[in-house]
Amino acid sequence: MFELLKTDSHSKARLGRLTTSRGVVDTPVFMPVGTQGSVKALDPRELREMDTQIILGNTYHLSIRPGVEVIQQAGGLHQFINWPHPILTDSGGFQVFSLAKIRKIKAHGVEFRSHLDGSLLFLGPKEAMEIQRALGSDIAMVFDDCPSHTGGPREKRAAVERTIRWAKECREQPRAPGQQVFGIVQGGCNAALREECARAIVAMDFDGYAIGGVSVGEPESEIFKAVEFTEPFLPSNQPRYAMGLGTPAQLVELVARGVDMFDCVLPTRVARNGTAFTAKGTVSVKAGFNKADFRPIEEGCECFACRHFTRAYLRHLLNVNEILGLRMVSVHNSHMYLKLMVDIRAHLAAGTFATFRREFVAGYVPSRRVLSARAGTEEIER
Ligand SMILES: [Zn+2]
Repeated sequence: MFELLKTDSHSKARLGRLTTSRGVVDTPVFMPVGTQGSVKALDPRELREMDTQIILGNTYHLSIRPGVEVIQQAGGLHQFINWPHPILTDSGGFQVFSLAKIRKIKAHGVEFRSHLDGSLLFLGPKEAMEIQRALGSDIAMVFDDCPSHTGGPREKRAAVERTIRWAKECREQPRAPGQQVFGIVQGGCNAALREECARAIVAMDFDGYAIGGVSVGEPESEIFKAVEFTEPFLPSNQPRYAMGLGTPAQLVELVARGVDMFDCVLPTRVARNGTAFTAKGTVSVKAGFNKADFRPIEEGCECFACRHFTRAYLRHLLNVNEILGLRMVSVHNSHMYLKLMVDIRAHLAAGTFATFRREFVAGYVPSRRVLSARAGTEEIER
């Protein structure tokens, strides 16, 4: 199902092709996040125009609202949201551990209270796989224990043991027709735990492997270490997915470390406060210096927003809370992430990825505001 087309000679970067029941996905790939069954502010036509090959849906959120029954009656998630292309669903583990207010970890899952109305719910390996089977996603994720990065060694070890046990339970559950299932490796920033978890998960023979626990508020150096500690133990002929990352420069660096798949809420999340991603870092479209700037958000960008509107006009729209403003910044940001992947794939094919990586990372200046937005304290998402 995964074809490794080429490996970069200067790094661990890979060019590949993942075949799913609803189409082929070229890797490295960025997957826009449709947490609630919609990539925020964007419609399927726009997503396809900007080369979206696969999107993310979320088990936790969709099972609470509108509920699995409604989606089943619609004929599955693809039909419900009118997206006939590949969908990967998150198992809900991350949300249970990050959003749910009161939780009790039990042998076969987690008992918790809904972040919406406080009702008592239970999600474990069996339930998460059952919901993903009903949603009919093309790639389902196992239910894992995703501890916070501030947890101690005992907590991290317990999380790894639970993740391994729950992965085994997930592996035994029935799947939707053609559905692939990816295992998740936990272990924080501890080399021994990452290796132990990776070896155990890989032995269960999943269709692909995710590196989890890498978007929980830790510094960038730890993200890279967690990936470097895990990657050597993942089979080269299967896809690798780094969950919930990152900034454009981080994506380039993670591709160089052998990662094939990414998802991140950043492009649409920061768009809503008027922040745009460019190849040089982020820019505040709302800022005063754009008041009479009649250039596009980014010169040379071929997105719909940059081809049709100026910074001055978009700034005005954002300042008067016109929906078109945040929609157009979302269009630009999502396009930027997807175009970055197109460029990475082209450079990998041409054998020029090393130069591209060096120049892109040197030219990209990250902003603290964006890095804190990734930690996700400002609102419930992902
Ligand atoms: Zn643009």
